Amino acid sequence: MREACGVFGVYAPSEDVSRLIYFGLYALQHRGQESAGIAVSDGKSVVVFKEMGLVSQVFDEAALLSLPGHLGVGHVRYSTTGSTHWENAQPVHSSFKGESFAVAHNGNLVNTLELKNSLASQGILFRSTSDTEIVAALISNSTKPSIEDAICDAVSQLKGAFSLAILSEKNIFAVRDPWGIRPLCIGKLPHKNNADTGGYVISSETCALDTIGAEFIRDVNPGEFVSIGDKGIKQKQALPKQKSALCVFEYIYFARPDSILGNKSLFEARRDMGKILAGISPVEADLVVGVPDSGIPAAIGYAEASGIPYSEGLIKNRYIGRTFIQPTQALRQQGIRLKLNPLKKVISGKRLVVVDDSIVRGNTSRKIVSILRSAGAKEVHMRISSPPVCNSCYYGIDTANKDALIASSLKVKDISISIGVDTLAYLDSKGLIEATGHPTNTFCMACFNGIYPIAVSSELPKKEMLEKIST
Ligand code: AMP
Repeated sequence: MREACGVFGVYAPSEDVSRLIYFGLYALQHRGQESAGIAVSDGKSVVVFKEMGLVSQVFDEAALLSLPGHLGVGHVRYSTTGSTHWENAQPVHSSFKGESFAVAHNGNLVNTLELKNSLASQGILFRSTSDTEIVAALISNSTKPSIEDAICDAVSQLKGAFSLAILSEKNIFAVRDPWGIRPLCIGKLPHKNNADTGGYVISSETCALDTIGAEFIRDVNPGEFVSIGDKGIKQKQALPKQKSALCVFEYIYFARPDSILGNKSLFEARRDMGKILAGISPVEADLVVGVPDSGIPAAIGYAEASGIPYSEGLIKNRYIGRTFIQPTQALRQQGIRLKLNPLKKVISGKRLVVVDDSIVRGNTSRKIVSILRSAGAKEVHMRISSPPVCNSCYYGIDTANKDALIASSLKVKDISISIGVDTLAYLDSKGLIEATGHPTNTFCMACFNGIYPIAVSSELPKKEMLEKIST
């Protein structure tokens, strides 16, 4: 299971935007740890710097100093279409009628193959195997007179999830798909003095606005095109709005708990999921423990509503990144625990309620239960603050194939046996929706209910599908 990407953009005439984008990407690092990139413009040309790795590994002082400009966009990536190569890192650089631009994309298209085949038949060559290069090629080859019109023309041909941050030489643009599947918001930078005009920010999540001292203005509406430049901010409805299909997994797991989505902080939404779960699946126990980090807000809610004391029970090492040296098989057999260590004194002899946000393949829960039992837990009652994940996602989350999802073939009772718990219960869809504070028809819940808001073409999108036809 992998996560969606993060996009960030800044237009600020009196600022060093590469540094602001760097800090914005830092705040969005949880959305993708595979590669990071920044594109900036000084009003005359677009320069891109991107590399594999975490934001802190990709950028240093020298790299930021090589990116002068007052407008720019950035990206952190976890692949959903295309594999892990430098060529697939973003922003993707291209040009339209001699003007350079760069595209950063969060989401996943479902008509990628059709678009790529059609562009390839016009003789267009591709360097990468990600669907973002297709978006760039559609803009680049548009016959429209201006880059604004070319972007609107390009996005009208896309099907699927896209929250785009695009940089041209003089403007930054934000576009969101007409279903609003992935989040995207706009913020405003404060004026530092009378001579300063402040600036605007676009971001996947509000937590990144907070990081650079920008104030949240509003979400980009589904299907909306926003342009930011020297005349301020302009917007238009570029694509007819479709039935809202915001990814409910953003509420459950993806977005940071200190982000706000649809007027509710995700910490509060997750705590409410835990409260509701305690009401529908109570259990007699001594202690509520959250699985760090994503299970903790719901565990706090479960404890509050049940009256069972909450405690930390598992300590997570937060410094293990992707480049971490993997242990040898011999070390693994010694039971080396890289990520989670139990607080034995707290857990030993206790009946535990263990709260996590989701079970996908079941491997994480199985390991956690075994760690807790070996630390002396008397009983382990697992409570999950989302419904069973039974279906793959095609809109920007690299979920496992359906047959790898434990709940696609096993009933709750059998899952509880498979992961080794005394009891297991999930939050139901009704409780989940109630916790978000929005009506049911706001969300895409395909991973739970199999109802896909955008028809997926006959050949189901697979992560490496463009590799087959790449040149
Ligand atoms: P597993 O059941 O072993 O596949 O892992 C499920 C755990 O991974 C959950 O506890 C979540 O916290 C976390 N998780 C859920 N969705 C994702 C995702 N798309 N990418 C990475 N981790 C995820």
